Amino acid sequence: MKILVTGGLGYIGSHTAVALQQAGFEVLIVDNMSNSSIDVLEDIASITGETPQFKYLDLRNKEDVHHYFKTHREIDGIIHFAASKAVGESVENPLLYYENNLSTLVYLLQECAKYEIQNFIFSSSCTVYGEPDRLPITEKAPIKKATSPYGNTKQISEEIIFDTTQVSALKAIALRYFNPIGAHESVEIGELPLGVPQNLVPFITQTAIGLREQLAVFGDDYPTEDGTCIRDYIHVMDLAEAHVIALQRLLEKKNKTPFEVFNVGTGKGSSVLEVIQAFENVSQMPLNYKVVNRRPGDVTAVYADTGLANNELGWKAKRNLEESLRSAWKWEQKVKLKKKDY
Ligand code: NAD
Repeated sequence: MKILVTGGLGYIGSHTAVALQQAGFEVLIVDNMSNSSIDVLEDIASITGETPQFKYLDLRNKEDVHHYFKTHREIDGIIHFAASKAVGESVENPLLYYENNLSTLVYLLQECAKYEIQNFIFSSSCTVYGEPDRLPITEKAPIKKATSPYGNTKQISEEIIFDTTQVSALKAIALRYFNPIGAHESVEIGELPLGVPQNLVPFITQTAIGLREQLAVFGDDYPTEDGTCIRDYIHVMDLAEAHVIALQRLLEKKNKTPFEVFNVGTGKGSSVLEVIQAFENVSQMPLNYKVVNRRPGDVTAVYADTGLANNELGWKAKRNLEESLRSAWKWEQKVKLKKKDY
């Protein structure tokens, strides 16, 4: 079966491409390399022995998207990762985000209708929940007004997909990711954030390797046990495997409704200080960090109720925080050796 992975050169897309190939799927990747590099293609192949079929494609170009599908009639399903994902940048440049995250989705869904592609997996996010009223958070929790244009694009995307499944043969699953971290165990692929990382773990590893002077911990006066924010950190390969299982559910027509949503997290919340402590244990070195003021837009705590994914999808995260951090640290050291562009 041929699966199109949009944004397949990116962080989660590349790990999912590996998991798909290892599950026997043929992977086709399209990407405009706005946040990734062509080298990733060979890095994927060095793990699986198979180079995915690749085409440079900017999904914002409707004509090019149409031409791609016209010339690739054999696609059985799509996993749609391509999007812009920096929350802060989305506040500064909302139209970039509405164009890149929404128009691209609409063009893809139009081609699905034209070429009868019925299986669609979408990268959503726990940001759709905002500040939760109850923890762990279930898929039934209310969607709160988004705190950024990025978060809003994920909410609107889910609505666009839902509406489309109501009037067409499309079947779709939105996976609401919690906080993906870590790298493939081979450390051939991993996360390569451009510029200053927005997320905790790449900031930790870049500080430890000497690329950043000091890690800023944004606030230790939150109403949590140690005062720092709590998140649900999931190993990127666990997340990648959830995509394969979700895709198989659609291909085998096991979905209960045309549009389904699943939380993809570990179910365990870890505070920023706990993550730092775990990293220090794994790396056997102290981390230079300093508590600074809160950062606007951060919610106090969010972690997943994974019951639905466990029971319905038959998926459960297998790797723990230490394992995830160990792989992230190994990856950072490898990146330094390879002198890849930061
Ligand atoms: P990433 O930036 O590493 O990967 C996205 C890929 O899409 C990149 O290779 C980029 O070049 C490509 N791309 C972007 N716009 C494109 C366009 N117009 N045409 C073609 N290719 C385009 O990001 P990621 O962390 O792998 O995230 C993948 C998806 O998961 C995104 O939709 C993101 O919003 C979502 N998500 C990520 C996280 C996270 O913490 N990483 C959390 C929740 C949801």
